[in-house]
Amino acid sequence: MADAADDPELERPDVPITLMDLTTRPIDPADILEKRYTSVATLRRLSILLTYATDWSLYHDVVSGRTGCYLRDVGCQRIRGTNGVEIENIGDMERIELGDPPGAFMYIVRGDGFNKVTGERLPRVEGGRASTEEIFKGKTGADLELDVRQAAFANLCGRITRALTGLGDVPVSELEAVWKGTRNNVADCIKARGFGGVDERTTGVSDKAPNVAPPICPFCNVPGVYRPARGDRQPFYGCQNWKAHPKGSKAWIVDAAKWIAQQAPPPVEPLPVSEVFREPGQEG
Ligand SMILES: [Zn+2]
Repeated sequence: MADAADDPELERPDVPITLMDLTTRPIDPADILEKRYTSVATLRRLSILLTYATDWSLYHDVVSGRTGCYLRDVGCQRIRGTNGVEIENIGDMERIELGDPPGAFMYIVRGDGFNKVTGERLPRVEGGRASTEEIFKGKTGADLELDVRQAAFANLCGRITRALTGLGDVPVSELEAVWKGTRNNVADCIKARGFGGVDERTTGVSDKAPNVAPPICPFCNVPGVYRPARGDRQPFYGCQNWKAHPKGSKAWIVDAAKWIAQQAPPPVEPLPVSEVFREPGQEG
């Protein structure tokens, strides 16, 4: 089989490729695919290296127990150019009166995304920010208008960049692996949704018992006690009287995440417009 170098164009991730290209030419399909994916993977690793820990928000999903990382708008600005991400056909800023509180407003801006490295296109993306957000506190008049508009534009660029680079939902383990031996540390990332007090921030899971009725111990018929996560151990419910359980009986332990997921979800209230445009951990 001929070497992939016979047609170096095929190794570029931005050159469209079909199954026909891979199977009808005198090339090794695995070799071509590996070269294409390797360049994308290398760019991803270098992009993560280029960011600061504070460019990332961590968000924790209490039900699944998973912690994800989200590259904030400010981090997207840092890596957009080197990732070949372009924003095209940027529309006019649209100002929306929110009405609550009086005078509150939001700016929305739309644009198309293009990734020169992968050739991927993302049409009609919307970005937006609301004047009611914490970071605009204390600003008024033209100053506030300008800041919200700029943040809305940064949000459009951020959304496009995250979507086209896959840096909107990165496992903690990937950041840790890439940052090993560097100045960056996951502990310095911004703790966003799903993180509460100090204990919750170190374990990633709340120490407080979740707001659902606990399971009942089948041996003693008393409510189970919530045990928060420690280290790698996930939170669970156990029985305080376990020593009094019949000899030889199986330990009674209920996985907290699974239990919570089985309980009736709280009533869902419609989100205000300003919240619809927020993403996990977004605050700047
Ligand atoms: Zn019991």
